[in-house]
Amino acid sequence: MIAVVGAGLIGSAVAWQLTQAGAEVLVLDAGRAGAAWKAGAGMLSPQGERLAGTPLEQDAQTSLSLWPEFAHRLSKGAGWTVPLTFGVEHLQPDRSVYVCPHEARTCPPLVVAAARTGLNLRCAEVQRLLPVRGGVRVCTSEGEFCADQVVLACGVWTRAFGVKVAAVRGQAVLLQTQPGAPARFAPPGGGHARYGLGRPDGLYIGATARATDSHRPSVRERGWLLGVASELFADQAWPQCWARDLVGLRPVNPFGPPLVAPHPTLPRVTVATGHGRHGALLAPLTARRVAELVL
Ligand SMILES: Cc1cc2nc3c(=O)[nH]c(=O)nc-3n(C[C@H](O)[C@H](O)[C@H](O)COP(=O)(O)OP(=O)(O)OC[C@H]3O[C@@H](n4cnc5c(N)ncnc54)[C@H](O)[C@@H]3O)c2cc1C
Repeated sequence: MIAVVGAGLIGSAVAWQLTQAGAEVLVLDAGRAGAAWKAGAGMLSPQGERLAGTPLEQDAQTSLSLWPEFAHRLSKGAGWTVPLTFGVEHLQPDRSVYVCPHEARTCPPLVVAAARTGLNLRCAEVQRLLPVRGGVRVCTSEGEFCADQVVLACGVWTRAFGVKVAAVRGQAVLLQTQPGAPARFAPPGGGHARYGLGRPDGLYIGATARATDSHRPSVRERGWLLGVASELFADQAWPQCWARDLVGLRPVNPFGPPLVAPHPTLPRVTVATGHGRHGALLAPLTARRVAELVL
């Protein structure tokens, strides 16, 4: 049996992929406040994220190309449609708009909900992993058991298991406006990326980036985000609307790209974390890579 620790964007995609391949999988999630997937935007946009010429460019393009099949199979398993809409607008400094038809957007909470459907998922915090003969003893808040292998995909909390992961807090707002807004990137400003996208749950405006472990929303960042909303969507109707703060801790590998590899010291443990700003984009590729390592 394979135990997957964490059922966020990465853990749930990995567990789903392993289950599809016929493995016996048990998923454990602690339901942490500040988990990145709850606040993630769902932009699948290598260009908006300026990945051209970086070490992630190739992986980003490969993973983007896997998204249509990934979303289709998740939707089939869940019995409802996981949103995946192509076409992302890029506002240029002279206010002209370039539309990239190959880029897309989704909605992370719905991706996670669909991937979790049908998984053997338990609500428990994994506290320790101990190597034992032929496997790994998994010690959780709800008891202990033995797994043949473990996949550690618990975002910034993976550091509790001897993996260096930094937290970069991201704040966004979700506005309840009329549906149908496009996905749109503005040139960065104020040290943060500026973008917005219509989702089934509202108009999402993102997002700040600050190196801290706190997942409390900041009033100042909220004000900045509302300014971005009026600038980016000046052409949309703005009825009276409420704004909900979303805050999540992005797991960042301080040494570079995401870590998808055997654990440095624990045998039979594979690590999948450090996806930073790109966990939604890279989820299908990461799930495949982990399956190749584990099966
Ligand atoms: C504001 C914001 C906007 C973003 N926008 C985008 C975007 O547009 N496109 C994109 O590609 N990415 C985006 N991201 C990044 C993306 O959300 C992250 O890369 C991704 O969520 C990381 O996934 P993860 O599964 O590694 O970690 P998380 O999503 O944080 O999930 C970790 C899970 O592990 C569980 N857990 C933790 N510790 C334990 C434990 N000890 N035992 C059991 N379970 C545990 C938690 O409860 C949680 O469910 C954004 C992130 C933020 C914050």
